[in-house]
Amino acid sequence: MELTVLGSGSAMPVPDRAQAGYLLDDGDRSLLVDCGSGVLQRLAGTDAGYEGVSTVLLTHHHLDHVAALLPLLKARWLAGEEHLEVVGPAGTKSLVDGLLDVHDYLDGRIDLAVREVSASRSFSAGGFDVTARETRHSMNGFAYRFSPPSSDAEASDGPLALSGDTEAFAGMASFADGAELLVHDCSFPDDVDVSNHPRPTSLGESLAGAEIGTLLLSHLYPHTGGREREMEQGVRDAGFDGEVRTATDGLRLSL
Ligand SMILES: [Zn+2]
Ligand SMILES: [Zn+2]
Repeated sequence: MELTVLGSGSAMPVPDRAQAGYLLDDGDRSLLVDCGSGVLQRLAGTDAGYEGVSTVLLTHHHLDHVAALLPLLKARWLAGEEHLEVVGPAGTKSLVDGLLDVHDYLDGRIDLAVREVSASRSFSAGGFDVTARETRHSMNGFAYRFSPPSSDAEASDGPLALSGDTEAFAGMASFADGAELLVHDCSFPDDVDVSNHPRPTSLGESLAGAEIGTLLLSHLYPHTGGREREMEQGVRDAGFDGEVRTATDGLRLSL
């Protein structure tokens, strides 16, 4: 399967990073994870396009992860697509209902399904097997781990983990242990005072000893601009011994 970074940015825009969004693709099936502002433009440049994405999985409901949800629904309606499924944590139904209350002319335009999932049992989204775990953030949300549709592996052993927005904590290391790729929130450099998001040192400390092939730093605030190599080194210096890279919009990785 392939991961395409559609949006490596955050709630404070920079020119070259859309807000949060990732595309999983195995050739036949596509799954969009998070749908922040700017993600649809990136999605339109992929092979799947917004026409090819009928399932969106949300990590949590902060605006930089859901802002383009109704724009996606509308784009699919205008393109003649008939379905959209939105999957996410508790509260996803009331979020979507509330958005459609405001933009009520979109209500009923396509067959819209909303499904709330929990961390207690794995589930399927867009054909991918998924397992979730709670994050530590200013809002309830999930990190996810994925197995491709063709795989015999349990989702909990899948090659890809996405942290969503979360502080660094040891539970994420055990959740992602054995993954080829962990995409993790690393919103700020060490010298920015912040809670609810990790910085390189706390992230590297939390992942020390975990068996993770590549760590991809993402959800990057403007403060990180030009400091990517320094942040990668900071994660390594704090104890993470896998490969460390920084996400860029459009980056594609095969798993
Ligand atoms: Zn958030
Ligand atoms: Zn965010």
